[in-house]
Amino acid sequence: MNRSSHLTDLEEQYGAHNYHPLPVVIAEGEGAWVTDTEGNRYLDWLAAYSAVNFGHRHPRLTAAAHAQLDRITLASRAFRTDTLGPFLEGLAALTGKESVLPMNTGAEAVETAVKAARKWGYERKGIAADRARIAVFDGNFHGRTTTIVGFSSDPGSRDGFGPFDGGFDSVPYGDIDALAAAIGPETAAVLLEPVQGEAGVIVPPAGWLAEVRRLCDEQHVLMIADEIQSGLGRTGHTFACDREDVTPDVYLLGKALGGGIVPLSAVACDREVMDVFTPGTHGSTFGGNPLAAAVGTEVVAMLATGEWQQRARDLGRYLEGALAGLDKSRVDEIRVCGLWAGVDLAETAPSAREVCERLLRLGVLAKETHQRTVRIAPPLVIEPEEIDRGVAALAEAIG
Ligand SMILES: *Cc1c(COP(=O)(O)O)cnc(C)c1O
Repeated sequence: MNRSSHLTDLEEQYGAHNYHPLPVVIAEGEGAWVTDTEGNRYLDWLAAYSAVNFGHRHPRLTAAAHAQLDRITLASRAFRTDTLGPFLEGLAALTGKESVLPMNTGAEAVETAVKAARKWGYERKGIAADRARIAVFDGNFHGRTTTIVGFSSDPGSRDGFGPFDGGFDSVPYGDIDALAAAIGPETAAVLLEPVQGEAGVIVPPAGWLAEVRRLCDEQHVLMIADEIQSGLGRTGHTFACDREDVTPDVYLLGKALGGGIVPLSAVACDREVMDVFTPGTHGSTFGGNPLAAAVGTEVVAMLATGEWQQRARDLGRYLEGALAGLDKSRVDEIRVCGLWAGVDLAETAPSAREVCERLLRLGVLAKETHQRTVRIAPPLVIEPEEIDRGVAALAEAIG
């Protein structure tokens, strides 16, 4: 038995079967490429769901991590550390917010925002105890905790995990009238993805984010933008909300914030919201640990110049041009937003899973989302020739 099938068997025998991985066993990565245990190289078109925006093992990020590994990696928030302050200061500047609360996973940032919004609703808006509601959107993906899957519209994410605690109202994405109708005096917040990632890179109608902002202001409701996948350069802007010059009350960040090295998420907002948290009301053993803070500080510094955002814009235009050459009879719709695309396959094409399996054989790693959509989200270090190579493989795979 060769090494890769042995390793696959180990995962199957001892692991939970909560994923259905493509048949490749990755051993190494560099930039936009990964190498399997057999030495085959693949272009990475998923970038770990945008957690690897800066490419695998970006030298600035690995250097920051190595340097911190030689000092201290975890002290807990029971004490102050010399890495946390600079990270918070940098991320506050990047988001334009007064304060930042570090967590680890994206789902924890979402949970933190739900707690903050509810407490803000009781203490600042005067909502009666335990009555606060949060408006969310059909097709959302905000993580996997029991609270979060309770307002998912995807049966695969939700079914079998109830009872759910309620307090969420889901309305169609991109529909401002439906949102207006769902907001009542007990609504504390609107939680949205400025572009729905897992749903298939769904870009809302132009002007919708600005209308949500106006509605939230009118109704004294917090606008919470989950930028965990859409933020930090992916769409050609620091935040996808910047595409419409919209500033939410709360930013949720994760994925690429950890540089592809450590889990690092954060909630960024002004004091009026953040100060609902007082000692003992929220926390995390690993949140803001020195290793994550050191990497996060470097990520923030890399994004401060705007070069990555510009690169994503330029490469996104290039990708859009390349995708326009795909056989129209095989494709229903293509949505591109920065270096991020959802390709909906037509009935005449194989399933998205089959297309991803063919792409794998052609040396490109991509992951389907739902039955008929191939998501394209390469690391932002990818070169135009590599985009051409990937699109040529896709053209072959859908044929
Ligand atoms: C991935 C994702 C999350 C959850 O992040 P985890 O780190 O997997 O918990 C939340 N929101 C959005 C928009 C995401 O894409």
